[in-house]
This record gives sequence, C-alpha cells and structure tokens, in this order.
Amino acid sequence: MSTQTIAATRAVAPNYLNVVDGRSVAALGGATLDVVGPSDGAVLTQMPRSGAEDVDRAVAAARKAFEEGPWGRMTATERGRLLCKLGEAILANHDELSFLESVDTGKPARQGKADITAAARYFEFYGTAADKVHGETIPFLNGYTVAVVRDPHGVTGHIVPWNYPAQIFGRSVAASLACGNTCVVKPAEDACLSLIRICELALEVGFPPGVLNLVTGLGEEAGAALSSHRGIDFISFTGSPEVGTLIQAAAAKNHIGCTLELGGKSPQVVFKDADFDAAVPSLVNAIIQNGGQTCSAGSRMLVERPAYDELVARVAERFRTVRVGAWDMDLDCGPMITPGQKKRVEDFLARARADGIPVLAEGQLAPNLPPNGYYVAPTLFGPVPRSNRLACDEVFGPVLSAIPFDDEEDAVRLANGTDFGLVAGVWSRDAKRSMRVARAMRCGQVFVNGYGAGGGIELPFGGVKKSGHGREKGFEALYEFSASKTVVINHG
Ligand code: NAD
Repeated sequence: MSTQTIAATRAVAPNYLNVVDGRSVAALGGATLDVVGPSDGAVLTQMPRSGAEDVDRAVAAARKAFEEGPWGRMTATERGRLLCKLGEAILANHDELSFLESVDTGKPARQGKADITAAARYFEFYGTAADKVHGETIPFLNGYTVAVVRDPHGVTGHIVPWNYPAQIFGRSVAASLACGNTCVVKPAEDACLSLIRICELALEVGFPPGVLNLVTGLGEEAGAALSSHRGIDFISFTGSPEVGTLIQAAAAKNHIGCTLELGGKSPQVVFKDADFDAAVPSLVNAIIQNGGQTCSAGSRMLVERPAYDELVARVAERFRTVRVGAWDMDLDCGPMITPGQKKRVEDFLARARADGIPVLAEGQLAPNLPPNGYYVAPTLFGPVPRSNRLACDEVFGPVLSAIPFDDEEDAVRLANGTDFGLVAGVWSRDAKRSMRVARAMRCGQVFVNGYGAGGGIELPFGGVKKSGHGREKGFEALYEFSASKTVVINHG
C-alpha cells in the first residue's frame, strides 16, 4: 500500500449518513455497510444500509416539500439561484469532494478533480436554465388561445452508478430540480461519499428540507424499494441493462416515466484517410479513461483494411505506455471498482485468449501497487472476429478490440451490428463521408474527428436499443424532467 493511500484512508470521516428531510440520519434499522476503497481494498468508512422504511421516509419528505414546502412557491429564477449556489459550494469544497470521489472509486486524482468540476458545472448550467424552460402557444379555433406549459413531475427518483457518481448525480438531479421537482437519490453501494457531501452542502446553501434527499444502501434493497415506490412520479436510472429492465418494469407497474442510461459497445470507425496523429491518442484514451468503466467507452476500433496494420501498430505502441496505479499515484488508469468487476474483466481476457485472439499490446501495472487493490492490465486485442463475445458484449474494463472493415457500407453495418447504441466516433478527412457515416449510426451521440466519451454538459446524451432511452444533459433533459400541459382558453 502506498503511504499516501494509508494517509488518505485515515482522512475519511468515520461514518456517513443519509440526508432526509433536511437532516443527516442513520438507517431506521441502524444497519450499516462498509465503504471499501478499490485502490487497496481497505474499509474507508461506513454508510447506512437503508431499507424500504428509509425510502418511505425520504419519499414522504420529498412529497411534502413538493406539495407544501416553499420549493413549489419559488419562482424558477429563485430555484435556479439556489442551484447555482450549490455549484459554487461544490467548487468551494473541491479538494474534499475530489478526494472523496477518487478514494471511493479508485480513479486517478486528476480525473476525480475533473469530475467534481463537472458536477459543479451541471448545477450552474441547470441553475441558469431553470427560468428558460418556455412553453409554446398553438394557433387553434377562433376565440381560443392555447398555451402549452411545462409542469414538474413531482417527486423524482434517481438511481446512480459508481463509475462517475458526482457527474451522473449532477446531470440528473440538477436538471430535475431546475424543473421544480423534489428528489430522492439512491447512490451506488460501491461509491457514494461525494454525493452525501453534496447533499449536505445543498442544505448549507439554503435548500429547503425535503427537496433533495439521499438514501444509501444495496440495489436490491434500497434501490428496488425506490424504483417500485408508489410515491415516485418519475425515475432516472443509470446503470446496467439488466437492472434497467427491472426499473422499466417497476415504472410500468406504477405508470410513470423513466430515463434509462444503460451500457454501450461504442465503435470508433477509422478510415484510411484519417489524421492518425489526432486519432491514436483519442482511441487509446477513449478506452482507458476510468479504466474502461465508462458507458461510452470506445471499446471497438473499426479500421479500414488497408490502414489496419499501420494504425493498430501505432495504437499498440501507445497502449504499452499506459500505466495503472492507485488513485493517489494519478496515473492513466486506476483499479476496477470491486473484486467482482475485476473478475468480470479477467474472465473476458481469459476467454479471448482461449479463443485464440491475438494480444497486440498490454499496459503496465505500476510497481509497488497496494497488494489488495483490484488492478487489471489494459489490453488491446486484434483482429477480433466479428461474432466473438469480445466484439459484441460490454466488458466495462480497459479492453479494446481492433476489427478491420472493407468499405463504408461494411463499416456502418459493423458499427451498428451490436445490441447497443450509445456513442460512436468517425475519423476521416472526407467531410461528406464523415457526415454520411455519422448520419447512418444508430446511437445517441456521434463524434467526428474526436471522441468525447459522453460529451459535454450542454450536449444531449442517451442511447437507443439496449443502451436505453430518454436523454439527459443539455436542454433536452429539461423536457424529460417536466411534462407538457395544454391549457385551452375559450375567450370568444
Ligand atoms: P448496476 O445496474 O449494477 O447499478 C447501478 C445502480 O443500480 C446502483 O445504484 C445499484 O445499487 C442500483 N441497483 C442494483 N440493483 C438494483 C435493483 N434491483 N433495483 C434498483 N436499483 C438497483 O450497474 P453498475 O454495475 O453500477 O454500472 C455499470 C453499468 O452502468 C454498465 O452497464 C454501464 O455501461 C452503465 N452505465 C451507463 C451510463 C450511461 O450514462 N449510459 C453511465 C454509467 C454507467
């Protein structure tokens, strides 16, 4: 274990609590769960193991705040100002929050810092957008005026994964609050500390009690209780396709809407005329960022056949320089989040090797790694047969598959040929072809001559097919977290 990691472990508070109705509270049953740091497997602290009764309490607080509290009487501008204040408070506490984000997830320190900056920006973006959610008027019969106004849903549930906790919390909660909803958040059991602190900061900057509530706990306990709760009016879920199916079923049972931001097997299509100097670092970064534990990781590198050998050699060369270490070593990649996630990635690696797929390059594990961390070496395979699991299934680890293609039509077929449709990249100097291919991609976001791994806060984001439905980020999220109401006025 690095000495810095030991010091950091000691700096985490001894226990963290739920935030319900304006107060920090333990689970009603008093149970707790260990919070484990993936860099060294050490127990960092404890969080409440919440159950259905804790979720009930949080939903009741959110309902009361929505129906009776000052939140519903505030103007959109006033709500927006509070969101901006929370963004400022996140920045004012940047050191603490980014430390918590990195020690809790294992991600390199500078990535944790970038994530907290982005979380603050979500609150600023949606804070300043709150009073710009305009409706419209519709020409109708003579003597009538028709106004379409936008109403909040009421109480929104937010189930957040562990890979980018603060960012994913920010993008869905800030948009929902901007629309006038009140929220109940269930963070992932594997990373929740920064979110608890942000909810505490919300109270410090003046959020009324019950507007933003958070209950920690296991997915099958607190998560299932929240998603099936009859007091929830909308649910925003980011996580695995398997759990997404359960969330969709629970939402259907309660006749409420949901956004599902699920997995991906995102292709980067590289034509032989591409700018390789620009493409190579981007191709590598898109799969090693956050140890590949990114829904929009560019996990398939599709290369036009005449350029395959050259491009793959250059990507392999760079891949060998990738270094993996504990969060405080601040290298290119951190550990996997849990032993289970590490095993999942290692199983993919073992199967690919057993299937005879050539290993083209591996990254390096730093020397003197903490012995109990969950580290795996980033690996580049190629050529990967198109029907192999490695070419089709989401690994959620630092594993890149190189696959050659013949022509534009073949590239599009191959890129669209998985169950997923989240993000794609196209690399070519031919503007017309880039545009054709971008338009032909079946996914929620396409980058041409770049790859944003999820893109900016301003850019609508979401999937098609098994990657989910609904859009978060950008202005589109404000339409997800509100519903139109048509007001027909007869003044004839
Ligand atoms: P996960 O589905 O296991 O967990 C996500 C959240 O759901 C956690 O908070 C968990 O506690 C909760 N949960 C688990 N079981 C539940 C249940 N039965 N009912 C209600 N809630 C439950 O996913 P994960 O392993 O944390 O994340 C990995 C997956 O998330 C990958 O597939 C990845 O691609 C996807 N992801 C997608 C996006 C996106 O924006 N599209 C972003 C990040 C991650």
